[in-house]
Amino acid sequence: MQWTRMKEEVLAAGGCRVRGRLPDHAIADSTAGPGASGSGAVFFSNGKGRVRLPVTDEGPITLLARPDRRALLEYAGQVIAGEVEPVGLHCPRQAFITVTPACRFRCRYCTVPAQEERRRSIEECLALVEGVRDRVEAIALTSGIAESVEEEEDYVCDVVRALGRFGLPIGVSIFPAPDTPRRLHALGVVEVKFNLETATPDLFERYCPGLPYDRVLGALASSVPLFGRGHVFSNVIIGLGETWTELADCIDLLVGMGVVPVLRPLNPVAECRDCERPGPDLLDRAARHLKAKLQEAGFDGSGAVTMCAACTGCDIAPWRDL
Ligand code: SF4
Repeated sequence: MQWTRMKEEVLAAGGCRVRGRLPDHAIADSTAGPGASGSGAVFFSNGKGRVRLPVTDEGPITLLARPDRRALLEYAGQVIAGEVEPVGLHCPRQAFITVTPACRFRCRYCTVPAQEERRRSIEECLALVEGVRDRVEAIALTSGIAESVEEEEDYVCDVVRALGRFGLPIGVSIFPAPDTPRRLHALGVVEVKFNLETATPDLFERYCPGLPYDRVLGALASSVPLFGRGHVFSNVIIGLGETWTELADCIDLLVGMGVVPVLRPLNPVAECRDCERPGPDLLDRAARHLKAKLQEAGFDGSGAVTMCAACTGCDIAPWRDL
């Protein structure tokens, strides 16, 4: 089976069973990073592409693991050989930290509001990175919104300042205040991700009540001249009721602005727990549309050094998977 199809099937299935013995540092920390919850995940790589595998008790896909990292991914009688990658914090090669794992907003697809954990202190963030320093090449920060968008921005800026001592590239994904792109850029942040989340403003209003869609678009537009094409990203969730035309239009809009869309299959959790995961054919169609648009525009996410476009574990990333 080709890598692309295997990854699409894995993402559509939402996880895999693990057999054998995993190597050290294989299980992703389920409390430090985005999407923190569940029983952990492992990352499988075929040398070029990478897929995040939430560990489940059942399902059609199996990972056969060995302590020396070599592994086989099996689905429908087909096998792909590769390796299990060691994780930094949340994903391989990065220390990806959720600064405030709580949120006063209630986006319907998100598990962060249910966690209501306390904000990580700057000392805790420093210790988290220190603990994985020998196996990461970048730092990524995301955050819920504890009090207000502006207060969260202030705090994340303080964390960025403190983490600068590691000399690693830092990427940040938070809900933007009007001045967020400029402030992060002035602090030396190299990449930003401001998530449009839904394909249309109407869906955004329905799934992210109380948050301004136009603010995200404005932040993306002002980020491109600062960080450069290929270093500004936006998650778009596939499977929230958008039509194909709406999804394609959203991809075209973002690429037209110089933004790399991260096409994220819906994970049916929180208030979306009864929704269906998008199937492999839709993921494939969306990724191929994105690839064509990026080729026309002359940029992509292949130069990303932080966050999801560098990791690509959860999405079909055209620059690595197609
Ligand atoms: S693609 Fe993004 S959300 Fe998924 S594991 Fe990688 S960094 Fe985390």
